[in-house]
Amino acid sequence: MHYQPKDDLLNDRIILVTGASDGIGREAALTYARYGAQVLLLGRNAQKLQAVADEIAATGKEAPRWFTFDLEQATPERCQQLASEVAGFVPRLDGVLHNAGLLGDIATMDQQDPQVWQRVMRVNIDATFFLTQALLPLLLKSSCASLVFTTSSVGRKGRAGWGAYSVSKFATEGMMQVLADEYDSKHLRVNCINPGGTRTKMRASAFPDEDANKLKTPADIMPLYLYLMGDDSRRKTCTSFDAQPGRKPGAAE
Ligand code: NDP
Repeated sequence: MHYQPKDDLLNDRIILVTGASDGIGREAALTYARYGAQVLLLGRNAQKLQAVADEIAATGKEAPRWFTFDLEQATPERCQQLASEVAGFVPRLDGVLHNAGLLGDIATMDQQDPQVWQRVMRVNIDATFFLTQALLPLLLKSSCASLVFTTSSVGRKGRAGWGAYSVSKFATEGMMQVLADEYDSKHLRVNCINPGGTRTKMRASAFPDEDANKLKTPADIMPLYLYLMGDDSRRKTCTSFDAQPGRKPGAAE
């Protein structure tokens, strides 16, 4: 995406990022902070979250709050508790990036381990829903909030071997569409990002044999992540965006 954001695009915005400890989420948190946002980091690994917070603080910004939260253990009650904690630190949320995700097994449906299937659904769907429901009151306190889910090309067209992950991303697209239809885009816009093949540990585990140097890095795909959190995307809602438009899904050539 060709998008030239202004340096102060996210000044005064408060944005929570899930899966902020690594990969695309880590980069999004660093990028949002660089463009002026106050970020809140959510992940399951305290050490990695602290490292991201330190990196932001090293740029002269206030060190962001971070919250350890294992999405696999998420319940509606735990998400409400987390939302109360968040509300203790910030008056509202202007953006939430649901980025954390679990790949599960790359295996045909007859070989999908039902337990792994359930873990993928817990992290990618149940936790995303519980967290969204708990955070909605904070989002609705913003004059123009942006809720962003993370999808995949296999969430739009099924592909052999992508089992639970693919099905969970179809559900993510559905969750985005239902929510977008329920809110006036002036107050809450709801969209999906498909990052496209990106150099992260999840990608490496899905495609162990590909040359990672041929993939875009998380930093390369940030223009869309910025666009959807800033004013330039006001009123855009119910859309599943590609961070790498035109990229052919699958392994890097
Ligand atoms: P990574 O595996 O590199 O990072 C995933 C992030 O989610 C990490 O911060 C990880 O934490 C966190 N996470 C995983 N499970 C949990 C959990 N149970 N509780 C809390 N946090 C958790 O993945 P990517 O950066 O590649 O992926 C980010 C998103 O983009 C995902 O939704 C993925 O499906 C999607 N995507 C990625 C593509 C790619 O090519 N990379 C392509 C299409 C979609 P920890 O650091 O502790 O592991």
